[in-house]
Amino acid sequence: LGPGSYWLREKERHFGASNYAPLPVVFHRGEGVWLWDVEGRRYLDMMSAYSAVSFGHGHPRLLRALEDQARRLALTSRAFSNDRLPLLLERMCGLFGFERALPVNTGLEAVETALKAARKWAYTVKGVAADKAEIIACDGNFHGRSITIVGLSASEQYRDGFGPFPPGLRRIPFGDAAALEAAITPETAAFLVEPIQGEGGIIVPPAGYLARCAEICRQHRVLLIADEVQTGLGRTGRLLACDHDGVRPDGLILGKALGGGLLPVSAFLADREVMDVFHPGDHGSTFGGNPLGAAVALEVLALLIEHSPWERAERLGERLRSRLEAARLPCVREIRGRGLLIGIAIDPDIASAASVAETLLARGIATRDTTGNVIRLAPPLIIDEATLDDSADTVIDTLAALGG
Ligand code: PMP
Repeated sequence: LGPGSYWLREKERHFGASNYAPLPVVFHRGEGVWLWDVEGRRYLDMMSAYSAVSFGHGHPRLLRALEDQARRLALTSRAFSNDRLPLLLERMCGLFGFERALPVNTGLEAVETALKAARKWAYTVKGVAADKAEIIACDGNFHGRSITIVGLSASEQYRDGFGPFPPGLRRIPFGDAAALEAAITPETAAFLVEPIQGEGGIIVPPAGYLARCAEICRQHRVLLIADEVQTGLGRTGRLLACDHDGVRPDGLILGKALGGGLLPVSAFLADREVMDVFHPGDHGSTFGGNPLGAAVALEVLALLIEHSPWERAERLGERLRSRLEAARLPCVREIRGRGLLIGIAIDPDIASAASVAETLLARGIATRDTTGNVIRLAPPLIIDEATLDDSADTVIDTLAALGG
């Protein structure tokens, strides 16, 4: 048994739960787009920690921001203000065009924050009876795993055994604006949507879908809340995936890459009409808006502004997609996604995407399968063309060997 097996076995002895059966690898070090396992083998990171590592592992500027801030002041809690938070709020509101921002920590926490704001907005501003406000989400969504959020999920596995769920949680098909219009009632507070579904299988809705949803929401006085935890900050070839449709949502949820792959930082952004339903003490978090996270997120925003990494994501994503498409692989049903969030749907009669992930791992590409027998290709946005082309060759070669 190698050292990798040792670490895996030790983890399994005490680990609480795993999203997935683990792949037979244990990572020890990361730099840029590369990961090294405990045995010193190198892998290309094609997961980017579900898009959280968009700037690569150990980006020097993010590390410096983290270290400088950690030495100066890491945590004050919400009991006190800190001097990094106002800067972060100003830059976030300026860049994304909102009046208010509320930083929290993980993606699910920002989604919960958005849902709480939407419900209280419906009650206090829209005039919906107390505790009656409804939230509409989409089939195939992934917004996290709290009880409220899995109450919105269509996945039996996420839901089974975890109820009862809060009332007023509803679901409609994704990509169908008419279904949204039909589902809205006077009690509807918000429509929560991923502009491109990530965990649901990298699903891109028809062009104009989000714009039509925004129009419907405006007509019916329903908040459009975009969960851009995975799609935001350049990943899909625009600063926000909403930008593909020219939509500015009423509420924006950011996470993952906002923390630069170094620590959890998420945020809910909205205008005053929505955010100001929170009164002091209504909502909070010990770590939300902490100086350390704020300093790193500020540097992330600076990198976004200076380098427009979405342009690179768009160009390289196109390049990767067209190479994969040109290979005309018989086992591939569909290649989906935008920018550097790409999913290859594999014919399940030919191979399981999970087994393809294992083969890719053995060939030096670290990625996982997702819903719908899909292989995910989502490298850090800093990947260079030669590395991307090499990885495309390996993926094509691996899929070609499956026949079909
Ligand atoms: N929303 C979306 C769209 C996500 O992809 C995820 C995580 N995969 C989440 C929310 C939850 O984020 P976290 O795991 O940080 O709670």
